[in-house]
Amino acid sequence: MTEIGFPWRFEGSELQLLRLLHRKDGWTRSALARRSGLSSATISVTVQRLMEHGLLRESGAWTEGVGRPAAVLELSSEAWSVLTYELAPQSIRVGLLTATGQVLETRHHPFNAESSRLNAGDLVGAMARMGRQLVDDWSDGHTSQVGGGTRRAGAVIGAAVSVSGVVHSGTLVHSAGLRLRDVPIAEPLSQELQLPVWVMNDMDARALAEFRYGAGSQRDHMLMVAIEPAGIGAGLIKKGEPLQGSQGSALELGHMTVERHGLACPCGKRGCLEVYSSEAAIVSRAGVLQQRRAGRDAGPAATACETAQVESLWRLATSDSNIRRVFEDALDYFGIAVSNLVTLLDPDLVVVGGHLMRLLHPWGMEKLVSDVRSNVFQPGEKEVRFVPAALGPDAGLAGASFFAVQRLLGHV
Ligand SMILES: [Zn+2]
Repeated sequence: MTEIGFPWRFEGSELQLLRLLHRKDGWTRSALARRSGLSSATISVTVQRLMEHGLLRESGAWTEGVGRPAAVLELSSEAWSVLTYELAPQSIRVGLLTATGQVLETRHHPFNAESSRLNAGDLVGAMARMGRQLVDDWSDGHTSQVGGGTRRAGAVIGAAVSVSGVVHSGTLVHSAGLRLRDVPIAEPLSQELQLPVWVMNDMDARALAEFRYGAGSQRDHMLMVAIEPAGIGAGLIKKGEPLQGSQGSALELGHMTVERHGLACPCGKRGCLEVYSSEAAIVSRAGVLQQRRAGRDAGPAATACETAQVESLWRLATSDSNIRRVFEDALDYFGIAVSNLVTLLDPDLVVVGGHLMRLLHPWGMEKLVSDVRSNVFQPGEKEVRFVPAALGPDAGLAGASFFAVQRLLGHV
């Protein structure tokens, strides 16, 4: 018997099946037997017990093809729920997620990290209050319409946090956007909520969500790259786990050096990808161009980046070759960085996400693929595939929640 963050005690075989069903869809009883090594009789009894507890059910689908059709099993969305947070420079978001990664409800508390100085106590206190309120509101049979069905919240088994910054062992080591350094989150939040808590980098969380629920299609070596208003990031998912590095800063793509003695980056280095390819960099360079044209001296580079500014610049780019050149330059640097990552990591799939790449689609994707194909060192026969990200703004919540449950189920 194993005691974990659940209100039930699981037999070893039950845990084994829950791990497989949480990790992937589309299991039949015989596939579970083959994968787990358990006998068919044990699988039958275990599946029956898990169904009686309301943790899994038959999906209504049947396998087709050779052999007798077999019922497909799935995790029940109400098997459990996970309280999940997203910390970004403009807001704290909290959501209650089902066992199958769907969002029942999210709430957000806006703040401006640039103007209001956050301290660690305030942050964790605000997170705990928001989380408790959300769980309380859902504890009395509250329902929500998700994906065409009525959903209830299962027992809350843990909490997960996705944060824009470097995370190591439950501590936010550094976040330029949140203006925080060395803030322990997992332990104090766990004490406040009386739940196990896991904290991870937002890009790792989004990459993990694409792997499990989106465009990643469960590939063994999936790389995700993204250009977001807040910065440039990457995540590598190897067999369902993010590569985090020894101190949590693996794949900080935005701070890969792409120009020796280049422009100064807010991180303190020079020549980082972020100062050439981010939305802030595009707005800044285009602003300098437009000021020159107006006969004024180039002023200081813009620091605040508005999503709307990039969108209006992209509309201008159709008729203004100088503005278009700014976008091409930004993608040239991004292509170099992504080629280097592909050469180093040898992924079999690259998921491309973020606001800028969505805005520039399909031109941006075609340019990126062509740049990488001409620069990458891949001596094997297979060419790396590129796909656009499939998930929306809740991907970070879904990925962090998946990460926490993997740990609760003892998968990692
Ligand atoms: Zn930098």
